[in-house]
This record gives sequence, structure tokens and C-alpha cells, in this order.
Amino acid sequence: MRIRKATALAATVLALSLTATACGSDDADSTDNGGSASDNGGDTGSDDGGLEGLTIGIKFDQPGLGLLTPDGDYKGLDVDVATYIAAELGVDADDIEWLEAPSPERENLISRGDVDLVVATYSITDARKESISFAGPYFVAQQDLLIRVDDEVNSEEEINDLTLCSVAGSTSAQNLRDNVAPDAGLHEFATYSECLSGLEGGTVDAITTDDAILAGYAAQPEHEGKFKLAGLNLNDEYYGVGLAKGDTELRDSVNEAIEKMIDDGSWAEFVEANLGPAGYEAGSAPEITETD
Ligand code: GLU
Repeated sequence: MRIRKATALAATVLALSLTATACGSDDADSTDNGGSASDNGGDTGSDDGGLEGLTIGIKFDQPGLGLLTPDGDYKGLDVDVATYIAAELGVDADDIEWLEAPSPERENLISRGDVDLVVATYSITDARKESISFAGPYFVAQQDLLIRVDDEVNSEEEINDLTLCSVAGSTSAQNLRDNVAPDAGLHEFATYSECLSGLEGGTVDAITTDDAILAGYAAQPEHEGKFKLAGLNLNDEYYGVGLAKGDTELRDSVNEAIEKMIDDGSWAEFVEANLGPAGYEAGSAPEITETD
């Protein structure tokens, strides 16, 4: 585990989750871009036994969700959600180490103990729960297609005739292959941003993944007027916080943090600040389901 703590996690997480105050923000300027708290020699534990730091996996190339900016800041809904949760666990934004968690790597990063949490547009599925556990969900997206602005895709049936791009190890690629359009061509990369030049250049007809991710790409200044969402709801995707399999104490603390974030209005603020500029209209916050 990469959780850096002065004393036993069991005592600290539960105690701190009841008492710590929230400090999530829509701006990750104060986050640690480089080293981790453990780089300080691991002797900086707080006197009350609180966690010294957390290593959290996010996406680095998904505007509105998880983005490493050219200035070295981390921005997006997942960054704000993760920062809020960390604060509830007693960890300052400065003591979060952000690690890139590409879709195919997420379970491995957790199972190896390279990260404490993954907050990376990470859909809760039974298959993933064989190797890791989830807290949440904290958000619901729908799988959709990003297409060129002059194209139309009006039904699932039409997708079988298309060549698509998606990401290996994602529910998007799997649902396309297994359910939506088994006959469609599918190029798979490690990240969605690698699909964008193919869509622009015409080597693929569409990118498929969650609508919140696609809306972020469509709204990037360099893509203005080029792409649009097809508006198909191909699947509901419930985003959870990934953590080590069977760590029920951490899961319960993260669930408490998510509930508080929703109840105190922070969730709605984070959603509006991060997804509103792309014109994305989110539904309401989901119920927590990952309780046992
Ligand atoms: N939410 C889906 C998943 O967890 C697609 C987005 C992603 O790959 O992060 O697979």
C-alpha cells in the first residue's frame, strides 16, 4: 500500500472521516505535481496519527474529468472528487501524489499497491470487483459516440457498419464488441485522446466511450466545430472509487466522504464547474451501492 500514515489506518480513517473538514476545490493549483510525502523520508506523520499522504490514480488526458495541464496542474471532476475525499481522510491537497491511471492499467495499479485510490472515470463492474473493490458510485455517465459534425448516427443498428476507436480494457470497447455492435470495426488504444486524430483524419468514423469524456474533447478549442455527440445511450456507466480488494474500512470512509460531498452541495459545484463549460448536462447524484 502507498497510504502513508503514522499509525494504524483502522483508527485514523474512521476517526478523521468524522471530524475533518472539507476543502475540495475546482482548482488543483495547490496539488503536489512531483514527489510524494514519503519522499520526505516518511517521518512527517501528524501527531494525531492522521494519514501523511495518498497516491491517487486519475486520467491525465480527459478534459473536464482528469487532465494534466501544460502548467503542471491537475484539473477535472475526478480531481475535485479525489481532493475532497482525501481531505475527509485527513490528507491535504499538497500531500496527494497524482499518478496516471490509463484504463487498461487501473486494476493492476491497485492490486500492486502503486496507488491507494483510483478516481478515473472508473465504472463499477462485477468483473473488476474480482480483483479490486469500489466505493461509490459518485457519478453516472452514458456510453455514446463522438462523430464528425456533418455525420449522423441515429440508431445502434447503424454502428455495425462503422469503424470505431476506443480504449483497451474499457467497458466502452467491451460493450461495443459484446452487445452493441459486434460487427463494427474497432481500433483500440491505451487512451481516448489517441483516437482523436483518427476521427479528424477519417481513419475511424466514431470514438465510443462515456458521454462526459466525449463532451470534454468536443469542447476543446482545437476541436471547435469539428465533432459532436451522436446522442445514443448505449449503457449507463456508474463511476466508482477503486481501492484494494476487501479494504472495507477505507471503502466505508470513502463512501461517507462521497455522501457528505453530495449533501453539502460540493458535488453539484464540482459537476457544474468541470462539465458545465462543455455544455454537459449531468443527471442527479447516484445512490451509494458499494456497501458490501
Ligand atoms: N467508464 C468506462 C470504464 O471505466 C469508460 C471510460 C474509461 O475507460 O475510463 O471503462
